[in-house]
Amino acid sequence: MSVVGIDFGNLQSKIAVARNRGIDVICNEVSNRATPTLVSFGPKNRYLGEAAKTQEISNFKNTVGSLKRLAGRSFHDKEIHEIEKQYINADLVEENGQIAVKVQYLGEQRIFSIVQLIGMYFTKLKDITSTELKIPVSDVVISVPGWFTDVQRHCILNAAEIAGLNCLRLMNDTTASALGYGITKKDLPEEKDNPRNVVFVDIGHSCYNVAIVSFIKGQLIVRATAYDRHFGGRDFDQALVNHFAEVFKGKYNIDVKSNNKALFRLRMGVEKLKKVLSANTQSPLSVESIMNDIDVNAIISRQEFEDLCKHHLDRVEIPLAQVLHDSGLKLEDIHSVEVVGGTTRIPAVKERISKFFGQELKYTLNQDEAVARGCAFQCAILSPVFKVREFSIQDITHYPIKIVWEKIPEIPDEESEIIVFPKHNSIPSTKILTFYRKQPFDIEAYYSEPDKIPSRISPWISKFSIKNVEPADKGDLSMIKVKIRLNLHGVLSLENTHVVEEVIKEEKEEISESQQSQQTQPMELVNDAKPDEASKPQEASKPPSPKKVKKLVKKADLPFVSFNGGLDKSTIASLRELEGQMISTDKLVADTETQRNALEEYVYDVRSKVESIYSEFVNPAEKGNFINLLNETETWLYDEGEDAMKSVYVEKLDHLKKYGGPIAERYRENEERPKAEKLLRESI
Ligand code: ATP
Ligand code: MG
Repeated sequence: MSVVGIDFGNLQSKIAVARNRGIDVICNEVSNRATPTLVSFGPKNRYLGEAAKTQEISNFKNTVGSLKRLAGRSFHDKEIHEIEKQYINADLVEENGQIAVKVQYLGEQRIFSIVQLIGMYFTKLKDITSTELKIPVSDVVISVPGWFTDVQRHCILNAAEIAGLNCLRLMNDTTASALGYGITKKDLPEEKDNPRNVVFVDIGHSCYNVAIVSFIKGQLIVRATAYDRHFGGRDFDQALVNHFAEVFKGKYNIDVKSNNKALFRLRMGVEKLKKVLSANTQSPLSVESIMNDIDVNAIISRQEFEDLCKHHLDRVEIPLAQVLHDSGLKLEDIHSVEVVGGTTRIPAVKERISKFFGQELKYTLNQDEAVARGCAFQCAILSPVFKVREFSIQDITHYPIKIVWEKIPEIPDEESEIIVFPKHNSIPSTKILTFYRKQPFDIEAYYSEPDKIPSRISPWISKFSIKNVEPADKGDLSMIKVKIRLNLHGVLSLENTHVVEEVIKEEKEEISESQQSQQTQPMELVNDAKPDEASKPQEASKPPSPKKVKKLVKKADLPFVSFNGGLDKSTIASLRELEGQMISTDKLVADTETQRNALEEYVYDVRSKVESIYSEFVNPAEKGNFINLLNETETWLYDEGEDAMKSVYVEKLDHLKKYGGPIAERYRENEERPKAEKLLRESI
C-alpha cells in the first residue's frame, strides 16, 4: 500500500511518498520534481502535466490550467470573469450553473466540468506515483488552502474519487507545512513548558496563506489563520506584463494585449525575468517572435520591478497583522517565522515579512516541497502501512458555520438558528443538536458570514432531511439528537440522528443528561479535541450514592438524507467510468506510439547490421530482398503508416523479424561458439 502526499498547486503540483528511509519527493517522467497543473486535449488523446505544458502554446485553446482556482466555483462568479479568465486560454462555459470548459477532443467538441479536469490531472499524478513506486496507488492526502469552502473541498474529494484515489484527508496547506516542521523537530518544548509559536507563510502562484501554530512535543495546535486569496506570483507577473506591454507599444508599435498568444509568450518571459531578479539586481527580457514576427528585448532593474509592484508589496503585511491579532499573541511571543512557496523568494516580499515580525526568516522547510512532504507525513500517520511517531494535529476552520431550521408552533420561543462551528473551531469536531419534533424535518447549514467566503460561492453548505420522526407517547414531541461533524477534510457531514427517551433510573450519580435535555439551547458539544470532557462526571469528588435520576436512553436511529455541494455516488461512478475510457484511449495511443517507434528502430538497427556485422551470415539474394523489405517499411512508416493501428505495427515488426530473426540468430551462435568451446575445453 502506498503512502502519498500531494501538494495540489495552481501552477504546479508536487508529490511526496513515504518510504522506509523517510519522505521523498518524487520526479515525473521528465525528471522534474514539480508537475505542471495542466490538462490538454488533442485529436487522438489527452496530454496531462508535462505533456500538456510542452504543447501549451501550439494547442492553446484546448489546454486548461488554473484548475485549483476554478474548483467548486459557479459560472456566474464575478471573480472568475474579472480575474481568473485572464489566465485561462480555453473557453469557459456554463454547465448546471458550474464552470466547464469547451475543447476539441478526439476531433469533436466536448465539454468537461472542472471536477472532471481535476480528476484527469489526479490520474496523471497517480500514474507518476505508481510508476515510481511500482505498486498501485490509492491512499493519499491532498493539500487545499485553508480558505477553501465546503463546495470547493467536495470538488477536490470528488475529483480524487474519479481518479480512483482514496483521499484520507484534505489538509490545509499551512497545516501540512507545520506538521512537516513539528514531526522532524527534536527540540520542541515539553507539555509543562510554554509552547513554541511558529508562523508559517506560504505564498505561491495565486494565493497567500499564513498560520500561527503552537508546538509542544508530539502536538501542534493551529491558533489562527489568515489569507489573501488574490496574492501570488501571477500578480507580480501581471504587473510586469502591464509594464512591458506599454513599453512595446512605443518601442515596437505592437499591442501585446490584443493577441492572446503574444500575451502568453510575454507572461512566460516575465516569469523567467522575475526569478532572475530574485538573485540579481537587473535582468534582461527577450521574447522571440512575440507577434507579427517581431523579437522584443528590454531590461529592467530590481528597483524598477519593486516600484511596479509597490501596491502588491504594501499588502504583504495585512494577513500577517490579521493572523497575529486573531492568535491573541504578541510579536514577542513568536518564536520563528518559516516561509514556503515560490513567491517568498522575491527579496522585497521576504523583507516585508521579516520587518513585520522583527526577525530573520527561517528556511527550515524546503520552500517548494514542504506542503507535499507534510501531506505525506499525514498520510503515513493515517495509514496502517508505516509506524510513525505519534503527533497530534489540531487544525481549525476559517469560516463560522450555522445551522438553520424551521420553528414549529408547539415551541414558539425556539431559536431558529445557531452557530455550530464558530471561526477557528477545531477540525475535526462534532456537535450534537437536540430538537423536539413530531414529524420529519430539515435542517440546513450555512456559512454565517457570507461576505467572508470567496465571492459568489453560495453560503449554503448542506441540507439534512431527518426522516421517520413520529410523536412520542401521548402525542408529545419526540426528543431527537442530531450529530453534526466537521470532519477531517473540513467538510460538514451529518453523522447520525436518533430518538431518545427519558427514563427514571436508580443509579450512582453520573453525568445527568436530563439536565442537558432541559437546556433552552438546542446544542451540546462533543468536541473531538477533548473527548474526555463530555463524559466527565459532573461532581467527581462526591462519593457515589444510589439516586433516582432521569436518564436519556437511545430509542432508535432515524434515517436521514444529506444534500451538499458534492456529486452524488452515481454521477461519480459514471464519471469514473468515463475517465477509465479516456485512460484506455490515452494508453492505446501511447502503446501505438511505442510500437511504431519499435518498428522504426528495428528497421534502422537491423539494416545497418545487415550491411556490417550480419553481412557474412546472410546470402546476397536474401540480403537484397531483406534490405528491400526494410526500405519499403521505412517509406510506408513516413507515408500511410504514419498513423496506423497498433496491431499493424506489431504485424509488420513480426514479419520483418521472420527474416531478420534467423540472421541475428546465426550471428549470435557464431559469437557464442568460441566462448562455448573455451568453456568445454576448460571443463575437460
Ligand atoms: P498556489 O500555492 O498558489 O496554488 P503553487 O503551489 O503552484 O501555487 P509555488 O510552486 O509555491 O505555487 O510557487 C510558484 C510561484 O512562485 C510562481 O509564480 C513562480 O513564478 C514563483 N517563483 C518561483 N521561483 C521564484 C523565484 N526565484 N523568484 C520569484 N518568484 C519565484
Ligand atoms: Mg502552493
